[in-house]
Amino acid sequence: MTDRRPLVAANWKLHKTLGEAVALAEDLYAALTEDGEAALRDVDIVIAPVFTALARVHAALSETGIALAGQNVFEQDSGAFTGEVSAPLLADAGCTYCIIGHSERRQHFGETDDGVHRKLEALLRHRLVPIVCVGETLEQREAGDATEVIVGQLDRALGGIAPADLHDLVVAYEPVWAIGTGRTATAADAQAAHAALRAHLEGRDAKLGADTRILYGGSVKPDNAAELLAERDIDGALVGGASLQAGSFADIVRAAL
Ligand code: PEP
Repeated sequence: MTDRRPLVAANWKLHKTLGEAVALAEDLYAALTEDGEAALRDVDIVIAPVFTALARVHAALSETGIALAGQNVFEQDSGAFTGEVSAPLLADAGCTYCIIGHSERRQHFGETDDGVHRKLEALLRHRLVPIVCVGETLEQREAGDATEVIVGQLDRALGGIAPADLHDLVVAYEPVWAIGTGRTATAADAQAAHAALRAHLEGRDAKLGADTRILYGGSVKPDNAAELLAERDIDGALVGGASLQAGSFADIVRAAL
């Protein structure tokens, strides 16, 4: 890790009722502070609950410094778009971040790189920090195409947006074959992917490359987090399954210290 501030984000996916979400948020704060304030002081911590729990979790965490994220956003701000949630509504519910382009959305909901780009523009319009996910399938990795795939996804997601408008950008490298499977990329493979993504960002703008935090996601657990986070281009983690237990998520956050 470098002097980029570490960021560890929890993706709760489609889990937790209102009561369960608030209880988990409170347990998480307790677990993070049981040995002092270092985790909250030195790591940016972001939680992405389901939309319906955002406002309540925001209220529960308002004094803690733990930030809130949407798991998805619609590209338009308002209008006749039944069932969608927009960037201004996420901000209104207390979000300061939003995940876009998660592989589950690409896989199950047909999300495309162009769509991710339009979502990114919507987030920037409302000053929400985008967490742009990219990742290759196992088939693409085995064909030797992993780098080309992830750099292409990032390139198309960013499109022609000026580097100066991307100063808070967060990228998450999440190999699809590692999400929820218990399989993790080796630290060396993950580092190589992160380095390729950073090189792409550097090619756009030196400062963008130097400043952008690139998270690793894919079966991150307390017992593999430290090794991954020790790599120079891995600036944090996006955690699914292990974020549903306060203790394991807090241990992953501590590995980022
Ligand atoms: C994710 O949902 O982004 C994720 C990485 O999930 P898991 O940690 O369960 O693999």
